[in-house]
Amino acid sequence: MANSKYEYVKTFEQSTTLLPATYIVVRLDGRGFHKFSAKYNFEKPNDRRALELMNAAATAVMRDVPDIGFAYGISDEFSFVFGRECRLFDRRESKILTTVISTFTSYYVHLWSTFFPSKPLMPPLPSFDGRVVLYPSTQTLRDYMSWRQVDCHINNLYNTTFWALVQKGGLDNAQAEERLKGTLAAEKNEILFSQFGINYNNEDEIFKKGSIVFRDYKIEGAGSGNIVATPAGSGGDGAEMSRTQQEKERKRRMKAEIVTEHTDFIKDEFWQQKPWLLS
Ligand code: ATP
Ligand code: ATP
Ligand code: MG
Ligand code: MG
Ligand code: MG
Ligand code: MG
Repeated sequence: MANSKYEYVKTFEQSTTLLPATYIVVRLDGRGFHKFSAKYNFEKPNDRRALELMNAAATAVMRDVPDIGFAYGISDEFSFVFGRECRLFDRRESKILTTVISTFTSYYVHLWSTFFPSKPLMPPLPSFDGRVVLYPSTQTLRDYMSWRQVDCHINNLYNTTFWALVQKGGLDNAQAEERLKGTLAAEKNEILFSQFGINYNNEDEIFKKGSIVFRDYKIEGAGSGNIVATPAGSGGDGAEMSRTQQEKERKRRMKAEIVTEHTDFIKDEFWQQKPWLLS
């Protein structure tokens, strides 16, 4: 493009380059979803279709942005995790953040009618805010993930008990809130069991554990449990992959099936079984 006398305005642009060799986490969250969920009559405490729509949108984002290694969703939020060696957009923060948020929002709207066929979307339309957080080590990233999963558990136990008190116990919202004030987990479990015959352990995993979405490299020779692909950079710690190797790896990632599980990843086991996720 030809230079013009106006071009100097470009020098006013600012951009943040994300620190190298750190995990990049993009966390998005629905704006005003308390109200939004009431508008579309989401089932309380958990509307399964709404969660599955979130998961479907996140899966589509991962297909469109192959640099994302895995993602974790609860309620109206999703965290997308990029590997430490990610070079997408030369690690420019605003490019990465805006691409993830707008791609997610597009798919959320696009897929809405599949999950809510009888409830057409009307303005105000759903939107999401987002932030970027960097984690310098596998430990801090795992602690981040554990933090979100513990949050899922705490909120879900509270919400399950709250809505049992309202829907089955005849309390109004304020009374239910008052009843739960200061209670510990054991007490909430006890209210659920003794008053409503609900064993919290038997609640659906998607509600208790949230949804982790990742590339399953075990696609070839399905059933054999063989890990076909190897983690990126497995040629040796710190060894730089050549451009062609990187390209090959990228293509393999793009082909891998993207799956969703509702499983505990606070324990080591989940990560030990999928070592490529933390490479
Ligand atoms: P903000 O814009 O600050 O995020 P918010 O109203 O979205 O405000 P959150 O703390 O993000 O507040 O909480 C999201 C709310 O959306 C939950 O409290 C819950 O009421 C509702 N919600 C989200 N997903 C579901 C779901 N699958 N089933 C039922 N309710 C849901
Ligand atoms: P990037 O992701 O880097 O932005 P890009 O392909 O979007 O890549 P741009 O520099 O943003 O590149 O250019 C947008 C391109 O989209 C234009 O070059 C043109 O080909 C096409 N385009 C956008 N709007 C129109 C339009 N209204 N009519 C025809 N072509 C359009
Ligand atoms: Mg928010
Ligand atoms: Mg929200
Ligand atoms: Mg939220
Ligand atoms: Mg463009």
